[in-house]
Amino acid sequence: MNTRQIVLSSRPKGIPTIDNFAFENIELPEIKEGEVLLEGMYYSVDPYMRGRMNDAKSYVPSFEIGNPLEGSVVAKVIASKATGFAIDDLVTGRLPWRMQSIASVKGLQKIDVDIAPPSYYLSILGMTGLTAYFGLLDICKPKAGETVVVSGAAGAVGMVVGQIAKIKGCRVIGIAGSDEKLKLLKDEFGFDEAINYKTMPDIKKAIADYCPNGVDIYFDNVGGPISDAVISNINFHARIALCGQISLYNGTEIPMGPRLQPMLLTRSVLMQGFIIGNYQSRFPEGMHQLAQWLQQGKLKFTETIIHGFDQLPAALLGLFNGENTGKMVVKI
Ligand code: NAP
Repeated sequence: MNTRQIVLSSRPKGIPTIDNFAFENIELPEIKEGEVLLEGMYYSVDPYMRGRMNDAKSYVPSFEIGNPLEGSVVAKVIASKATGFAIDDLVTGRLPWRMQSIASVKGLQKIDVDIAPPSYYLSILGMTGLTAYFGLLDICKPKAGETVVVSGAAGAVGMVVGQIAKIKGCRVIGIAGSDEKLKLLKDEFGFDEAINYKTMPDIKKAIADYCPNGVDIYFDNVGGPISDAVISNINFHARIALCGQISLYNGTEIPMGPRLQPMLLTRSVLMQGFIIGNYQSRFPEGMHQLAQWLQQGKLKFTETIIHGFDQLPAALLGLFNGENTGKMVVKI
């Protein structure tokens, strides 16, 4: 079978461009015992993929030049030589950016579309939902009445963090990059306040104004000056979850910020980085709770769906311009 794939053609310096990707047609071999032939339906694009475009050691291997990129995909089984996997079953797994691909079923999970639409298994019932769940509950341990600030608040992780914090009885302030996003956070997702970091001249003062009792929890999705502004309002015994640093992913130099350690020390603040893979053994617990909240209407979600396989690179780059609200997904 002939299929189309997207490979990394060159490594970006700074902000990636479409020229860092190339499209190819390839011939797939026959499937073997224990394998399935899959047709991609929904492809996830995620900020961490930017790091994989660099030639640098990290918690996931770099993409190789000339090889297809890969990520989480929801796919339909179109041929099977594996017990328990039938034609038309829907699965999710880490797959190459190919329209059709062959996979061992060992790395695939079947999905239940009675619980949620298929694409939600790339987000709220997948990696980004679990990241919000464990990062907030396990690291930040929110208590009713506490003040929680979330950056990247209108994105896939951030909007779930804010809603879980509300379920736990906290006051929630979101930071995002447009007035439309702010309105959505307050009107649809129950955030108490929201700050547009692109138009607010003094974010440090805005946080102080919106958090008169200080910040008890900061869920950091973006890093950089936004995080410096939040942390300068941090409370005694506050907790900071370092989830993402998207504002720095396209940087070419090591950034210099304020030295925060004395403040963290004297205020007895916990700041902890995490990778969602650390929680793999507890994914069923997180999935169960997120699905339950979704079905009870306590959690809401939204996606930005881009249409067409060839749009995958543009969708990935769009994350760095704030083109998504909720999860950025490409539908075939
Ligand atoms: P996302 O928030 O859905 O998409 C990225 C958003 O980041 C954009 O929509 C944009 O929104 C914002 N952004 C882009 N450039 C920015 C900048 N320079 N300054 C401030 N905001 C910027 O992505 P996500 O999947 O939910 O991921 C959010 C963060 O969590 C990322 O940093 C990601 O790497 C991290 N993450 C970590 C883990 C983990 O295991 N630790 C797992 C998943 C995700 P605006 O319009 O608001 O600018």
